[in-house]
Amino acid sequence: MEHGATLSGDDERRYEDTTAMELDAEHLIVGAGCAGLSLAVRLARRDLRERGRILIVDPREELEVGDRTWCSWGGSGATHPFASCVSHRWTRWRVRSASVDVERSLPSRPYERIPSDAFVREALRVLEAAPGVVIRTGTRVSALRDEGATVRAECEGGGGLRGRLAWDARGGAPATVARPGDVSWLQHFVGWEVRTERAIFDPGVAMLMDLRVDQGRGPHFVYVLPFARDRALVEDTYFSERALEEREYASSIERWLEEHRAGSWEIERTERGAIPMSTAPIARRAGPRIVPIGLRGGAAKPSTGYAFAFVQRHCDALARVAGDGRTVPPEVPVRSRVATFFDRVFLSYLRRVPESAPEVFGGLFARADPAAIVRFLSEEGGAADHLAVMRAVPRLGVAAEAVRARDLWMRAR
Ligand SMILES: Cc1cc2nc3c(=O)[nH]c(=O)nc-3n(C[C@H](O)[C@H](O)[C@H](O)COP(=O)(O)OP(=O)(O)OC[C@H]3O[C@@H](n4cnc5c(N)ncnc54)[C@H](O)[C@@H]3O)c2cc1C
Repeated sequence: MEHGATLSGDDERRYEDTTAMELDAEHLIVGAGCAGLSLAVRLARRDLRERGRILIVDPREELEVGDRTWCSWGGSGATHPFASCVSHRWTRWRVRSASVDVERSLPSRPYERIPSDAFVREALRVLEAAPGVVIRTGTRVSALRDEGATVRAECEGGGGLRGRLAWDARGGAPATVARPGDVSWLQHFVGWEVRTERAIFDPGVAMLMDLRVDQGRGPHFVYVLPFARDRALVEDTYFSERALEEREYASSIERWLEEHRAGSWEIERTERGAIPMSTAPIARRAGPRIVPIGLRGGAAKPSTGYAFAFVQRHCDALARVAGDGRTVPPEVPVRSRVATFFDRVFLSYLRRVPESAPEVFGGLFARADPAAIVRFLSEEGGAADHLAVMRAVPRLGVAAEAVRARDLWMRAR
């Protein structure tokens, strides 16, 4: 199915040359998820004559699905086009381990939640009003080929599409160049939005990590976003190599609810994810005109799996250099070398001493300045902030790991 605004007479004339080349659009965005729509909205806000036409394709027939929610730290001063979609904000957060129960507060940097259905509605509102933008659902791209001046997208079931640039926003994981010693983990989880019989939640405090759960299969915690005293998203999360069977997460969530004396409960919504956490460098583009974005572009932060804020920042930067597709956009790294370096330190350490996760995260949230933690997690600070955070975790191990990771980092340059 296709929908979008039509071109005016002037716009039609301007694109006569491109239609003669059988271009479907200047910008072909493959995947209408978080990154595809984030980039499309930014491009669509620009004048059609400057940016050219945009065609967004996705295999799903229905895009407005609430299958996930995105959280990130607001208040950085950097705005994004989806600020009106924030459904909840928490200014206090908590981390618990066997030895630490810490609650911190930073009213200037609320932890903000955006439901994906609200996000998609806002994106479609902008895109459907913009000229020269078409969204084609029910279309799965099986391969992208850079053919020099244009890119061809092969579509499943036959046929193809042609654009000057292809933005590969199909999700999944980035292509990487793994080296010996690199960590290749997943942040994998199942979350239930529950309504409980008893009022057990504090809606003012987001539980970022409850680490008082079995650590036998790698770093493991329960994440709780409370919406009311009897409603919350309760998510069972691991950092490790492989995702688990659905029932393993389910029994952990059930145990957590029982231990918190929830009484009976009703599951209103479920979500599931497996986000890449990798220290391997991102490979070069498959072709100069095929630009990976979102998870494909390495947006997920290796040490946490968070991606939403980095997708927004990356799409901002890419939209600025995208032009009308005639020139190849330069490489725009998702994160700085400093952030990459500290992520490697952190993740390599956790892999080497996975049982230290409760101590590492408990210590970090208890000892480091909350503003520095938020800047570290949001990749806003410089080396000083990152070091301040690192100093809050067991020193010797991290120092040794820093040297090792630095060595890897130097070799990656
Ligand atoms: C349940 C869940 C909760 C999350 N919560 C958070 C959070 O709180 N904070 C945070 O920072 N990050 C979070 N993440 C991580 C990350 O932000 C999301 O995974 C985000 O959706 C990634 O964006 P993306 O555009 O790369 O991929 P997606 O949003 O998954 O979009 C990929 C799109 O590509 C389409 N597609 C797939 N194959 C093809 C094909 N062959 N041809 C054309 N289109 C195709 C898909 O249909 C989809 O629409 C979460 C992830 C999940 C799964």
